[in-house]
Amino acid sequence: MKTHITYCLLSFCLLGCSGLNKPQTPPAKVKNIILVIGDGMGPQQVGLLLSYARQAPHSVITNRITAFDRMMDQGRLGISLTYTANTLVTDSAASATQLATGKFAGAEMLGLDVHGNVQENIIEKAKRMGKATGLVSDTRITHATPAAFAAHQTHRGQENSIPEDLLATEADVMFSGGLSYWLPQQANETNSSLYNELTQLTANKIDIKSSRNDDKNLLSLAKSKGYNLVFTKNELQQATGKTLGLFASSMMQNGMLEAQHRSDVNTAQPSLSDMSTQAIKILDHNPNGFFLMIEAGQIDTASHRNDTGLLLHEMLRINETLNAVLDWAATRDDTLVIVTADHETGGFGFSYSGENIPPPNHLSGTAFSDGTLFHPKYNFGKPDILDKLYTQKLSYHDIFAKFDELPKAQQTSLKLTEIVSLYSEFKITEAQATKILTTETNPFHIPDHPSLGEKRVPKIEVNGAFFVYQKENRENLLAQAVASSQQVVWATGTHTSTPVYVFVKGPEQSTQPFAKILHHTELGQLAIDLLQ
Ligand code: MG
Ligand code: ZN
Repeated sequence: MKTHITYCLLSFCLLGCSGLNKPQTPPAKVKNIILVIGDGMGPQQVGLLLSYARQAPHSVITNRITAFDRMMDQGRLGISLTYTANTLVTDSAASATQLATGKFAGAEMLGLDVHGNVQENIIEKAKRMGKATGLVSDTRITHATPAAFAAHQTHRGQENSIPEDLLATEADVMFSGGLSYWLPQQANETNSSLYNELTQLTANKIDIKSSRNDDKNLLSLAKSKGYNLVFTKNELQQATGKTLGLFASSMMQNGMLEAQHRSDVNTAQPSLSDMSTQAIKILDHNPNGFFLMIEAGQIDTASHRNDTGLLLHEMLRINETLNAVLDWAATRDDTLVIVTADHETGGFGFSYSGENIPPPNHLSGTAFSDGTLFHPKYNFGKPDILDKLYTQKLSYHDIFAKFDELPKAQQTSLKLTEIVSLYSEFKITEAQATKILTTETNPFHIPDHPSLGEKRVPKIEVNGAFFVYQKENRENLLAQAVASSQQVVWATGTHTSTPVYVFVKGPEQSTQPFAKILHHTELGQLAIDLLQ
């Protein structure tokens, strides 16, 4: 026993005391932090992009090298858990709050701890240090992820109050969608002078309507606080100084449409990459440095709807954006780039099946030289599925919007099979279409939820409780109908607790603490500490 204690003391001293004699390495500091959040981007979503880059016969990714590969070139990788203070699974509001404040939060709340106390976020801290700050998102600026970095609200749904919080926090640049939450109710009167004024102000490129329940004009307030207002891609590219850019009435266009319309001269919406590049250009003028949060927010939307083709395009959008960020950061030794997700969405993955098993085949190897055939037992999926996913031309959501536009009498199963065939390589049968269009009395009626409350909803047979956005359930059912031909499975219509990747690239010492198993509160606190 005595020997054991002596040994312990000795080993304690050997380990502990030798550390004391070492010169203390000064805590690493960085001038700039760019935090890129892929909303819903779990390891499997990153994996889809990596598989596409490496395995798709006609991959559009240059040299098959993704921005994530570039992050790992002298960068580091960590893993982070995303749970909230008191739940297994998180939503985007709590997760972004934990990243922004370094404190545990509760689901659906913004900028508050789990008890409801206001917590200072990294933007407020960076401003106190005299740094420039910015928020960029391809969703809308009042949506949970960007809002958690600048607002303090008891629920993420309070989008009428969030613009005033954003203006109180005063990030130097805010680029996203969501104009309707900044316009007074009167904007809905299409014959009013206000409506005409707003139409002109936005170069007739954005639908003018208000989502507010009061007469506050938050654009006027933004102007009085010194913000330049921009509404189109052209105006964005000219922007200098403190700028508020609102490029869509609500959510910005999805990654599929963004890619299709980018060379169209009439396209007024900038890409996520355009917004990020311009934000960096403006923020970099501050000699004290900057903090910028960039959100690729529609990876989450695609995953909620189990729309794998759209998901691939959303992953290509974050890839392009991150490439632009890395191009800028390449010549800098004072900037830390962090790429992570707030959670995984959908429980996505390629999977092998017992359908369409490849026939026995000849192999040239010596083990088969006697002429025996190789007999596959299962179907492990052909890489050309990746190319087919890429060619999808319309999101599932927009496919059903086309269907709903038809006169009621034409909304048949046969018509749905035709529309699906028009926009996707993965066909469905009439029987599958009938199943997709079958409704049942709403078994999970949740009052006060905007998209719920319908008396009859599309019928999800397995795990229906996890498909809570019932209006969109047809999209999840379409995903189930093409699952075996896409070799894809989706577990849920909501989020999972899957730990997410943390890619970091920057000065050597600054990236070291991230290379372990973290929780998002620790990740947020590390970022805060590095900036201070
Ligand atoms: Mg988000
Ligand atoms: Zn989500």
